[in-house]
Amino acid sequence: MRSAGYYEALGLTPYWFAHVIHNVVDEPRSYMRGLHDILGEDGRGTNLCDPFPKWSNLHMFISAIFESIIHEPTEEGMGTFRMFLKLIGAPKDWFEDIENEGPGEIVFSELYDEGRNRLVEEIFHILFRDVVLLERFNTIVASYISDFGSDLESNDDRFTVKGNLRRVAVPRFVQDAIYFRDGGECRSCKKAIDRILSPAARERYDHIIPLAQGGANDITNMQLLCESCNSTKGSKLTRVSSLFPRIYQL
Ligand SMILES: [Zn+2]
Repeated sequence: MRSAGYYEALGLTPYWFAHVIHNVVDEPRSYMRGLHDILGEDGRGTNLCDPFPKWSNLHMFISAIFESIIHEPTEEGMGTFRMFLKLIGAPKDWFEDIENEGPGEIVFSELYDEGRNRLVEEIFHILFRDVVLLERFNTIVASYISDFGSDLESNDDRFTVKGNLRRVAVPRFVQDAIYFRDGGECRSCKKAIDRILSPAARERYDHIIPLAQGGANDITNMQLLCESCNSTKGSKLTRVSSLFPRIYQL
């Protein structure tokens, strides 16, 4: 079925949410308490260390921010939730319920769950193209991973003895997503890495924040580099290129 690889856009709100996620990643300090709940030890933080989950660290992050917004007992929080319920075609009585008791039991329903996941996926697709944002996001994530790694009383075999995450094979779905997002070009020197025309051109899937610096094994922490740029980079922390290819010349 052709539509299997597609998702249907829910509407305009994903861009508004994408904007919110941008703000949180840009100004983590203004959101400190919340961030710790999402990423820290007492939150869902240890998931950050799992190797290449399809529901990536950014999915998890977007989902948690969405939930914190709709639980805000303010007109903005309520308004956002009402808009969301409209989008997912919620039954009429839910709208009355939230006037009286906020999100309440609704968040345990399947309809809510599916709708939220769809919205999260949509926001993810918008943000996944913005590698500079992903770099900032992974810098924050790395500080939490380093914390877990330096405090290892449990023998968590996802970590090396140095307290960094182990290098694992990059799954095919990650390779494909990164290759196509980066247009088959080395993100650093812009050389074409053509999978079909020159099998010898070696593509390298590089950790934007290196594992040695607390980087995650996560699709959002990967970029396409050529072999030579990758070996120059090594385990150094190098800023991602902020150049995007022009669609056409003016
Ligand atoms: Zn290169």
